[in-house]
Amino acid sequence: MNILVVNPANKPFTNKSILAEPIDVLNIATIIEKEFGKVKILDMDVVDMHNDINKYLDEDNIVVFVFDYQLPLHTTMAIENIFETVKKAKKKTKFIIIGKTSTHYYEKFIKNGFDVVVEGIADNTIIDVIRNIYDEETLLKIPNIYLKSDEKIIVTEKKKIINNYVDMPIPNRHLVDLSKYMDTRTMVTSRGCIGKCRFCTTPSFFGNWSGKSADKIVDEIEYLIREFNTKKIMFLDDNMTVSKKRIFDLCREIEKRHIKCLFGCLSSIKCYDKEMFEKMYEVGFRWVHFGVESGSERILKAMDKEMDIDYIKQVIKEVKEMGYRVRTSIILDYPTSTGEDVLKTEELLLDLEPNEIRLHYLAYRFGTPVYEENKNVSNKSQYIHSNRPNIANPELVERIDHLLNSLKDKGYYLILDDVDWKKYNDLPKKTKFVSFVPIKYGMCWYE
Ligand code: SF4
Repeated sequence: MNILVVNPANKPFTNKSILAEPIDVLNIATIIEKEFGKVKILDMDVVDMHNDINKYLDEDNIVVFVFDYQLPLHTTMAIENIFETVKKAKKKTKFIIIGKTSTHYYEKFIKNGFDVVVEGIADNTIIDVIRNIYDEETLLKIPNIYLKSDEKIIVTEKKKIINNYVDMPIPNRHLVDLSKYMDTRTMVTSRGCIGKCRFCTTPSFFGNWSGKSADKIVDEIEYLIREFNTKKIMFLDDNMTVSKKRIFDLCREIEKRHIKCLFGCLSSIKCYDKEMFEKMYEVGFRWVHFGVESGSERILKAMDKEMDIDYIKQVIKEVKEMGYRVRTSIILDYPTSTGEDVLKTEELLLDLEPNEIRLHYLAYRFGTPVYEENKNVSNKSQYIHSNRPNIANPELVERIDHLLNSLKDKGYYLILDDVDWKKYNDLPKKTKFVSFVPIKYGMCWYE
């Protein structure tokens, strides 16, 4: 049986040299490999296959799509592409999908040719589903899946799955050709978050926070250095710094094993601690992302960000002074935003001058409170997008343009679309970017 785990094409956001190895796909493929001994990964961002999967199929196949699972880089285009790919398969194949989108739109995925949709956390369920894919009676007894039986869509028993990331194995990077990806490696050491931001899917999809121990994290760092000559690692956890104790343990372990590597991570202002960030800097952390999202106290409250502007200023100033390269993200058009709110955001950004500013128009992700509250709003995107949506308030549009111009005047490179980052190698440490698309990880991180 040919088991193929597929990363659907996520272009344009993973195009060109931003291309990072699909770490959540590697996670799932590694779990499958440990159980069944053999698995292949097909990364449609790397292989240009024009929706035609047949070249990668044998006589008898199980194909698992991992779409919008841990990393939210997907676009609406990807869904149609997935359906086309399934439709064109000519060999005997069972199609399974996991991720947030398919969990919410399971009917659409079943109607478009998927045999099983796995709901929520899939670590164990995927194994049971693969093992029993031709045994419908047993499949119907597996909790938290959707499947077709007698032309009807069946929802099996719902069981609460506790997020347990502690024992996740090290993803086997040999399942992909790492030379095809950017040279900063990625890791995910935890899953979930203690925050409850109203636009974020993480709390409802993964629930409680769970993370690997310091020992296990450093085993993986050593593996990346030993086998792939890794110099920079980006931790793509939803929020790496939830547990202060774990981070101090990690720093101690990095020192104990004399690890020489540079690190970046996603954190949150809520989980900031000065002493912890100083220690992290000592052991090689050089880049950090904070989801600031707005300079308006009112909008922060509406988002349930649980932080105030003075504290945001204090944290970002301290972290910059320590020597970190800092990225912040901003949502420009959160519901009820006015020109006044964007003006406050502009003032905050000009005051703090983060090295990288990632601008967003709101993605109304299913399962989030902001999605539920705005069900009747038409034309709302559910995925990241760089195109400005129709904003009814002209004052808001004007202030957004003003903000962009002010940042350009302040010396920021304005990146509106996908960029070939190869041209931007060796930029000085202080280079500033403002962008609507991801900036290649590892840019301007220096000793
Ligand atoms: S802090 Fe980040 S990961 Fe946590 S809930 Fe908020 S947006 Fe989501």
